[in-house]
Amino acid sequence: MEIKENFSLKELTTFDIGGQARYYGHAMDCGDLKKLLQFAKEQNVAFFVLGGGSNVVFSDSGFDGLIIHIGIDTFGIDQDVVTVGAGVGLLDFLRRAARADLGGFSGMAGIPGSVGGAVRGNAGAFGQEIKDVFVSARVLHTLTGELVEFDLAMCDFGYRHSFFKEHSEYVILEAKFALTKSHETEIAAEIEKTISLREEKHIQGIRSAGSFFINPVVGEELQEEFFRDKGVRSRGGRVPAGWLLDLAGLSHKRIGDIQAGEMHANYFINVGEGNSDQVMQLSSLAKTRVRDQYGVKLAEEVQLVGF
Ligand SMILES: Cc1cc2nc3c(=O)[nH]c(=O)nc-3n(C[C@H](O)[C@H](O)[C@H](O)COP(=O)(O)OP(=O)(O)OC[C@H]3O[C@@H](n4cnc5c(N)ncnc54)[C@H](O)[C@@H]3O)c2cc1C
Repeated sequence: MEIKENFSLKELTTFDIGGQARYYGHAMDCGDLKKLLQFAKEQNVAFFVLGGGSNVVFSDSGFDGLIIHIGIDTFGIDQDVVTVGAGVGLLDFLRRAARADLGGFSGMAGIPGSVGGAVRGNAGAFGQEIKDVFVSARVLHTLTGELVEFDLAMCDFGYRHSFFKEHSEYVILEAKFALTKSHETEIAAEIEKTISLREEKHIQGIRSAGSFFINPVVGEELQEEFFRDKGVRSRGGRVPAGWLLDLAGLSHKRIGDIQAGEMHANYFINVGEGNSDQVMQLSSLAKTRVRDQYGVKLAEEVQLVGF
């Protein structure tokens, strides 16, 4: 396993943004991961665990530490339970499970990134979330070197939330999911249908980091306004951050080469040679406007690194 120096981070993210990492290593298994952690300790530098890079914004000034890229690509099936390495792409996992006639989770198709990243953020789309099929995860505690088996209750999943979001000292190595028996052709068709739907909604194949802000919990007045406008009730008092950004006149807003999406203002898109400074300027403008006009404090869903 090689540790590279001054490694460009830009290419590792779907946003195509970021400076250089002082060190970079790819962990294909738990042994590699432990060696990389030991290296960071010896060099006395911070480390950051990266999956598919679809929910991070790296600073243009880079990361003065070690990026640990999780590449664990194991895959096994026992009846209807699939055990998947954290580095396997989410779509790849769904397609491989489909080949074994296991599905029921096709609403997740097209969400970029890795299985590890999806578990950590309880990724979801079209009414499905990781927690719906999650059984357990094998996890490394980076401070003690202990391997821990997390069951559903221990993960404390919620809307784009899990225990791991609050505890970055744990790294997910692999996870088990219980899927539903079906037929490969049907599942494959569902997967393709979901991807087409995402393309129609302009949330597929774009240079972005996904939803920039978490959907905020708002007061009853705004919840009612959302219902009047969209005809759907907000869930758990949350309204889409993109809806608030639209109201605040942010859709289309462009700073440099970073633009808030036309259909989804909560997706910031790199339309050229965008950089992290422009991302932060647009983010700051969005937060200020939504706070001043609606009294709502937006919080990032994306993970900011190196700022
Ligand atoms: C075009 C586009 C559309 C998107 N649509 C959706 C959507 O519909 N629904 C949705 O939920 N998300 C969506 N996202 C966001 C993103 O795809 C998800 O958050 C995804 O699950 C992130 O996974 P990742 O592997 O890319 O994580 P990364 O971006 O690599 O990392 C995100 C965070 O997870 C941590 N992490 C990564 N791997 C591990 C691990 N093995 N153990 C512990 N921590 C880890 C990282 O340290 C970081 O803090 C979209 C993104 C894009 C670019």
